[in-house]
Amino acid sequence: MKNNLIQNSDQISEKKINWEDVQIVFKEKFGNEIFESWLKKIVFVEEYKNYLLLSVSTRFIRDWITSRYLDQILQIIKIQKKEIIRIEFIIDTLKDSKLTEKKTDLKSFSNKNISFLKDSYLQYNRIDPNKNFENFVIGESNKLAFEASKKVSNDISHYNPLYIYGGVGMGKTHLLNAMGLKLKTINKVMFISAERFMYQFVKSIKSNDMVKFKEYFRNTDVLLIDDIQFMNGKEAMQEEFFHTFNALLDKGSQIIVSADRPPSKLVRIQERIKSRFSGGLVVDIQNPDKELRYKIIKIKSEELKYLNSNSIEISEEIKIFISTEIKTSIRELVGALNRIVSFSRIYNKVPSLAETKVILKDLLSIPENKVTMDVIQTEVCKFFKISKNEMLSSRRSRYLVRPRQTAIYLAKSLTSKSLPEIGRAFANRDHTTVIHSVKTIERLKKIDSELNSNIDNLKNQILLKKSNEI
Ligand code: ADP
Ligand code: MG
Repeated sequence: MKNNLIQNSDQISEKKINWEDVQIVFKEKFGNEIFESWLKKIVFVEEYKNYLLLSVSTRFIRDWITSRYLDQILQIIKIQKKEIIRIEFIIDTLKDSKLTEKKTDLKSFSNKNISFLKDSYLQYNRIDPNKNFENFVIGESNKLAFEASKKVSNDISHYNPLYIYGGVGMGKTHLLNAMGLKLKTINKVMFISAERFMYQFVKSIKSNDMVKFKEYFRNTDVLLIDDIQFMNGKEAMQEEFFHTFNALLDKGSQIIVSADRPPSKLVRIQERIKSRFSGGLVVDIQNPDKELRYKIIKIKSEELKYLNSNSIEISEEIKIFISTEIKTSIRELVGALNRIVSFSRIYNKVPSLAETKVILKDLLSIPENKVTMDVIQTEVCKFFKISKNEMLSSRRSRYLVRPRQTAIYLAKSLTSKSLPEIGRAFANRDHTTVIHSVKTIERLKKIDSELNSNIDNLKNQILLKKSNEI
């Protein structure tokens, strides 16, 4: 037994969980929709002897993940490390998963022990059939990039190189992918991110495989390189890239590059490479305007409805709300819609506006959802003209029971607090009481139109109060 323990602790220090690895499995096991909407947001914090500490940015996301996916998540993690027996979440509103994404990318590049990466270049030459020209929605901000991409796909080396730039989540990878998809029907296509290119380069040098590397990249008819801004430093590699670039142009191959900024703003990339980029066609994708955002929501929600073959129709109000509020990127926009759809599928109803705000809290630029238990209790007491002591008391008179149940119901629908947390805020009531109250009100709402409209009024008052506070 003792021996075993020692052995185990040795293993622990040897083998750390590779979070990137875990996320790859998440994506495979849960599918893209669940991964993009929920699991991608999980940030790895720390690994302890037999448990993992993870963080997410809102309670709602934590509750959603733990109630639906925790068992499978644990199983997946156990495959990497069987010692892990539980997972703990912390809520960290400041931690931005985007930052961590970037960090892990860089880490993977320098980590020499990435056993899960197979040696084949082809592994990264994956073109996603779901990102094509047909489902790329066009608006003012991306029209030029779209047209140039189409042109190149019909007639290679028309614009050569083609350089597309724009902010994160604006559709650059989608367009590159669409071009790859179209072009690969008659051409040899190589689609790779700049980071992967660097990784392969370093690896080929280490394994004395440069000849193969050169052959591989110089043999293609179309070279698509995504996120070129990550190709920086490393003189020898830039040298190789420059030569590959020239060799390809000489033989009439098409080069397509994406970046988050124009060529002249690239840092730590040789001037001659930048000037090569500028020599072709440079087009940008700008932030989507409201019209395009709405169009995307409209088209995507039809698409999702069809894919999931369900009849849930997201209300116009929600569509307008999402396209008005989520301005940062198309990725976030699509992510928000996916979340609403997965909520609707599970609860078999479309979320109300208030629920939407809770579900999307971490994506909305409206400040922290400040609906507190206290505000709910105060407003409900005021409305029903009872005192807070009466509400929290254990008395069961009818004139107290309904307001109490209403407040509990509102706490459940307007905050992301768990059932036990709500129970605690109501003088330590049991979570079964909370469930009972919520169910009772839900049932009554359907048959009692006065109660229903009272609740709507209360909801509005509480939410209004919240926005006044901010
Ligand atoms: P980028 O590479 O610019 O960061 P992506 O191409 O990865 O952005 O786009 C993010 C997400 O948004 C993807 O799911 C993509 O399919 C979707 N998307 C972006 N632009 C559009 C568009 N114009 N029409 C439809 N979907 C889009
Ligand atoms: Mg991209």
